[in-house]
Amino acid sequence: MTPSIPTVKLNDGHDIPQLGFGVFKVDPDETERIVSDALEAGYRHLDTAAIYGNEEGVGRAIAKSGIPRDELFITTKLWNSDQGTQSAFDAIDLSLEKLGLDSVNLYLIHWPRPDLDRYLETWLAMEQIRDAGKATSIGVSNFHRSHLEKIIAGSSTVPAIDQLELHPTFQQRELRAFGAEHGIAIEAWGPLGQGKYDLFGMPAIAETAAAIGVTPAQVVIRWHLQSGIIVFPKSNSSDRMRANIDVFGFELSPEQMAAIDALDAGNRVGSDPETATF
Ligand code: NDP
Repeated sequence: MTPSIPTVKLNDGHDIPQLGFGVFKVDPDETERIVSDALEAGYRHLDTAAIYGNEEGVGRAIAKSGIPRDELFITTKLWNSDQGTQSAFDAIDLSLEKLGLDSVNLYLIHWPRPDLDRYLETWLAMEQIRDAGKATSIGVSNFHRSHLEKIIAGSSTVPAIDQLELHPTFQQRELRAFGAEHGIAIEAWGPLGQGKYDLFGMPAIAETAAAIGVTPAQVVIRWHLQSGIIVFPKSNSSDRMRANIDVFGFELSPEQMAAIDALDAGNRVGSDPETATF
């Protein structure tokens, strides 16, 4: 049975399923099969990016599924080398062609790349992409407060989303507070810490999982959901992707939430957006 997944209302009035499926590092040759498994498991929100090289596989799985387009929420992202006005227009057209879609639900600037100083110009192009109907909602990823302030001041659109590295040992409290103040919904990338920290062995997570009778990964996903964060764990395994979506039959208590809140340790798994130059 397809689980019923709650939605979050974005600042532009559109709804996004709070739990989805991410495809970073999913091999392009395996993407069609893995995304087909995810759709079969009940996921309806898919998160890809031009740089992942697997938009075609995502598109083939969507086409094959027969699921009506309006039941799916598809996100892709503009890569750093495509920042700029004309490059952004060309990039969305290429992504749509690869995905086999007329529009995406959400288009994100992948990283701010402050050294390039083109993200405001790119954001103005994103507004035009939205106005042309090629993306229903527009947002950003890896943007810090100063980057958000610059695009809010320089355009007429507050981003619908900021997609950030976010997991129990890197909780992004300041940016989440800024997002709440300005109506910017927060998405977590690396929600399970990409397996780089032993999140699942931490007592606050492992003991909670044992007490409830679920897995540590399910506890972490539930922590994101109950924190109001939009989340899309990635898994190549059909068993793990099914477990990751099976998180609506239990709840973490306020004490269990507080114990995980206390794990925030500033442990990044990815690059610092201020200094990343890829
Ligand atoms: P995640 O935190 O989702 O971790 C994925 C890892 O966890 C994989 O190694 C996976 O292994 C493992 N895993 C998944 N489920 C379980 C489970 N139930 N038990 C144990 N291990 C599990 O990292 P991602 O980086 O993939 O983040 C999620 C999504 O966020 C990405 O796929 C992408 O869409 C997006 N993203 C965005 C970025 C950005 O800059 N905007 C950067 C990075 C990611 P296995 O596959 O073997 O199950």
